[in-house]
Amino acid sequence: MVATPAWPPASLPRLYVDRQLADNAPLVLDGAAANYLGNVLRLGVGAQLKLFDDRTGEWLAEIAEPGKKRLSLRVVRRLRPREPVPDLWLLFAPIKRGRIDWLVEKATELGVARLVPVLTGRTIVDRVNIDRLRAHAIEAAEQCERTALPELADPAKLDALLRNWPADRTLFFADERGGTPLAEAAVPGPAAILIGPEGGFTDAERAAVGAVPAARPISLGPRILRADTAALAAIALWMAKAGDWSHSVAR
Ligand code: SAM
Repeated sequence: MVATPAWPPASLPRLYVDRQLADNAPLVLDGAAANYLGNVLRLGVGAQLKLFDDRTGEWLAEIAEPGKKRLSLRVVRRLRPREPVPDLWLLFAPIKRGRIDWLVEKATELGVARLVPVLTGRTIVDRVNIDRLRAHAIEAAEQCERTALPELADPAKLDALLRNWPADRTLFFADERGGTPLAEAAVPGPAAILIGPEGGFTDAERAAVGAVPAARPISLGPRILRADTAALAAIALWMAKAGDWSHSVAR
């Protein structure tokens, strides 16, 4: 999937490519990427664009041979190395299509490193289309200028995740029944935020999470938030307190 800017684009088009980029490397694009650059944007010889590969960073490239179905590019020079990504995982019970797509898009923009769909007792969605979610993550990364994609894990059962939970990763367990406000609890270091399904966690799940030494119950305020709202609010709070929103950015 490729980002669709407002017309005319104010900045150079920006695409993810699933191969390692290097100085002067030739590159041929086809499929959706070629259609977007050749057909939608109608880029001609010498037109410039930005590429990133999730491995080496972001590169300036230009069109060597235009085309609508297939075009050749020349990689000109590296613009930025791959960024360091704040070490935050989002563990979320799958919700309905539309909402889950939105959640993945926004969590990518907000900067999470890893997205993990978690199957709980009250999860109502039992099939998760990881390829579709990955396409949404890529489109969001293209649009928000990330040079690193979030990792998208296969769905996992909550009990299996808890059994193997890494001791050094704080598990912020969003519990609408109460806990420490996340703005107080967030500290730098590897972390994960666990968000339940629309029906909430069962008492047994709550007890199982509480038994993990790295788990910390956290509150997101007095109102019951929808799962997608809760996830994004928690990511924003963690990023501001312990992630990469805590220092100034120059563009
Ligand atoms: N158990 C609830 C019910 O059915 O009334 C609602 C669950 S809520 C829609 C979905 C998830 O969002 C919860 O499991 C929790 O992880 C998170 N959440 C929502 N509001 C929250 C709050 N105020 N504090 C902490 N977590 C919250």
